[in-house]
Amino acid sequence: MLNASKAGYIKMNKLFSTIGENGINEAAEFVGLTCNYNKPYRDFCRLVTGTISEQNKLHSKKNFQFNQEFVPAEGLSSKNYNWDKEEGYWVPEDRVLYNSYFYLADDVNTSVLDKFRLHGAEFTELLDGGVGLHCNLEEHLSQFQYVKLIDFAIAQGTSYFTFNVPNSECTNERCHHIVKQPLDVCPKCGAPMRQWTRVIGFLRPVDNFDKYRHIEAKRRYYAKEVK
Ligand SMILES: [Zn+2]
Repeated sequence: MLNASKAGYIKMNKLFSTIGENGINEAAEFVGLTCNYNKPYRDFCRLVTGTISEQNKLHSKKNFQFNQEFVPAEGLSSKNYNWDKEEGYWVPEDRVLYNSYFYLADDVNTSVLDKFRLHGAEFTELLDGGVGLHCNLEEHLSQFQYVKLIDFAIAQGTSYFTFNVPNSECTNERCHHIVKQPLDVCPKCGAPMRQWTRVIGFLRPVDNFDKYRHIEAKRRYYAKEVK
């Protein structure tokens, strides 16, 4: 069905049918668990990912394979949340969408190192990919600190991560000053600044996202220290 496939660039029978997951935090909270680095939460996550992984293996055929990923669910995450709410299912009241991380992005008590543990092999080894950790930092680390943190990621088996430091862009076109910090007012000309961050995937201006992502992006915690 795909042009690239018809042209012989991609073999259809080598493509995966992805079981995409969104909202594991909310599922865990529903059964009374706390989403941070603790054993009951880890066991719950492994039960969910392990069950899907087992069923994927059972039902995959030679020319029809399933895999499992945490999907970013850029627009879908708020739809999932609102559909469930309208249907009368329990949803947490303190957010506007379902998360796609093993940690809560707005939790000030989940340390940077715990985020790496929560996206390490203990939590992610039963997934087939697509489980990006956004390491939200208020400002860049030194080269030495980045190397230490990457060594820590290797030790935890944290395969997919990115460092995310908010950038600000002056809205005055003649100035267009860029600062690698979250600022509301341009330090050069005093005009309002527009914030850029990785909400999901690529670095983009926050005001380009829909209203639900906009609210969530504003609430994210950018760590002031690595511990
Ligand atoms: Zn400016």
